Amino acid sequence: MKKLSRKDAQEIIYRFFESQRIESAQVKKIKKLAMTHRIRLGEYRKRFCKKCYVDLKFGKVRVSNRIKQIICNNCGNKNKWKI
Ligand SMILES: [Zn+2]
Repeated sequence: MKKLSRKDAQEIIYRFFESQRIESAQVKKIKKLAMTHRIRLGEYRKRFCKKCYVDLKFGKVRVSNRIKQIICNNCGNKNKWKI
């Protein structure tokens, strides 16, 4: 595989998260790519479970006390963010 430039990697990552459906296996690859190129995922990190990388779109959302919590549908992990 041809070595990607940081800009190429960034575009692949952003395009990936723009898509409607994200697969956990793909998320793993994307995360690795971001790490190699030191690209921050920022808001995109909220799209998937921290533990199993599954799309959090279908998870249970709870908001309390400036904390947003999404419970993963797949592994039950509680993903929390400050809001
Ligand atoms: Zn999970």
